[in-house]
Amino acid sequence: MTTDPVLERFRPGADYRMFIGGDWIAASDSFEAVDPSLGTSWAAIGNGTAADVETAVAAARKALLGWRRSSPSTRQAILAAIADRIEENAPLFARLLPTENGRPVREVGIADVPASAAIYRYYAGLARSHRGDQIPVEDPDSLIYTVREPLGVIAAILPWNSPLITTANKLAPALACGNTVVLKPSEFASASVLEFVTLIADLLPPGVVNVVTGFGAGVGSALVGHPDVAKVTLTGGGPTARAVMATAAGALTPTAMELGGKSAMIVAEDADLGRAVADAALGIYLANGEACIASSRLLLHEGIAVEFLDRLAALARSIVVGDALDPATQVGPMVSRPHFERVLGHVRKAREEGVRVLAGDEDLGLAPVNEKGFFLRPTLLHDPSGAADVVTSEVFGPVTVAETFVDYDEAVLRANATRYGLAAGVWTTDLARAHRIAGSLQAGIVWVNKWFDLPAGAPMGGVKDSGFGRELSWETMLEYSAPKTINIDLGAPRFPLWG
Ligand code: NAD
Repeated sequence: MTTDPVLERFRPGADYRMFIGGDWIAASDSFEAVDPSLGTSWAAIGNGTAADVETAVAAARKALLGWRRSSPSTRQAILAAIADRIEENAPLFARLLPTENGRPVREVGIADVPASAAIYRYYAGLARSHRGDQIPVEDPDSLIYTVREPLGVIAAILPWNSPLITTANKLAPALACGNTVVLKPSEFASASVLEFVTLIADLLPPGVVNVVTGFGAGVGSALVGHPDVAKVTLTGGGPTARAVMATAAGALTPTAMELGGKSAMIVAEDADLGRAVADAALGIYLANGEACIASSRLLLHEGIAVEFLDRLAALARSIVVGDALDPATQVGPMVSRPHFERVLGHVRKAREEGVRVLAGDEDLGLAPVNEKGFFLRPTLLHDPSGAADVVTSEVFGPVTVAETFVDYDEAVLRANATRYGLAAGVWTTDLARAHRIAGSLQAGIVWVNKWFDLPAGAPMGGVKDSGFGRELSWETMLEYSAPKTINIDLGAPRFPLWG
């Protein structure tokens, strides 16, 4: 039970403006940001227009002329300074993120802040080693090499669930390669991005980073379809990805897609159960389960399923749900009322399909001040045959569903039988089994005896409907730059065809 209702919520000094060409621009219209722990409005966000997008893209194009020629050491120093600013302002984010999207405050200092800072530092390093190749060819009179050039203006469309980290995943490599950027934050997490940009604005020349706020169908669509955008990168859901790709196709603009997941954790009969249960809880209840890589599916060997489920259900029932700003809170509210209703709808449907609820029906135990918030209990479902819709649909909340299996090939087949392919994992003490299963899982990331470890350097991204393109890695530098081939004649004789 949350006992302290007087928590220090984040409050902006004024209504939020957009950041375009180094200036803070008021939008002609605004919408409300709602604190999900209270269910009440806490800030006004500018609702931008296509005209604002036009100005932002023009500013980014103008800034590109200088920024693309900036030295690698300049970019390195700026990216490293951004990392420092994030760390120096950890207390601000510890109030802002819980107020805006319901992230439990205890997670901000151990996840959002260090992970974001690490991403900028990682790309600060890569900015110095980003280079082309010398191409070996047969002709001794040719010297051919490539230089890697920035693409131009990058449109980065962001989700609400981890605004600081998803911004870092796009901004850091884009800037490291010499691109300029227009960020379009989620309508549910715009303040986090605007406050972050406020903190770093003086580090960057005007127009190198711009932020337009508003809704997907308005500013989002105008930005994605803008002919001067060189690449669109989206982190979001599948329906959004389809709409974004269709719009980008109109301008022949390439895209990169970081999308959803339904990631299965396979637990063998020889697994260390204590660790596996703890990882299963971490995998689905961290970040309120609102994580693309959440372990939202459990495939349990019949030999350990009963004990595993008893332990995980007891753990889930012990979790403290409450105000995101309360340090005692382990799971906070869902980001918004529509999302809350969506998650509840998945659980309701599962019940109708006969799925058992092993944890999740307990009393919420909320403080009176939180009664209009968007809370639900950490939920554990059991559908031994894996036939229910919730087994393959992304819920994006603190809800996981367990199935049981006997045969390992069957477990892999079932894990792969979803449209998603973002993450997966296997818990076993048998080395050969670990390798065999890891090799057979259709996912961009496979963890063995761990979950949620995403260090900068290890490529992050999905297969199938989880998207394409990789973030968080050296490969990402290739996605934000293009090779230019320089082919030089060293005095080769001409073919005598035209004299
Ligand atoms: P969403 O798809 O609803 O929105 C994402 C962004 O797209 C928002 O900024 C939105 O305004 C914008 N948008 C919507 N329609 C648009 C359009 N037609 N044109 C341009 N922009 C448009 O996603 P969300 O609810 O913010 O985030 C949750 C989803 O994101 C989940 O599916 C989750 O799995 C996924 N996600 C993936 C990763 C990853 O790295 N793979 C990380 C975090 C979240």
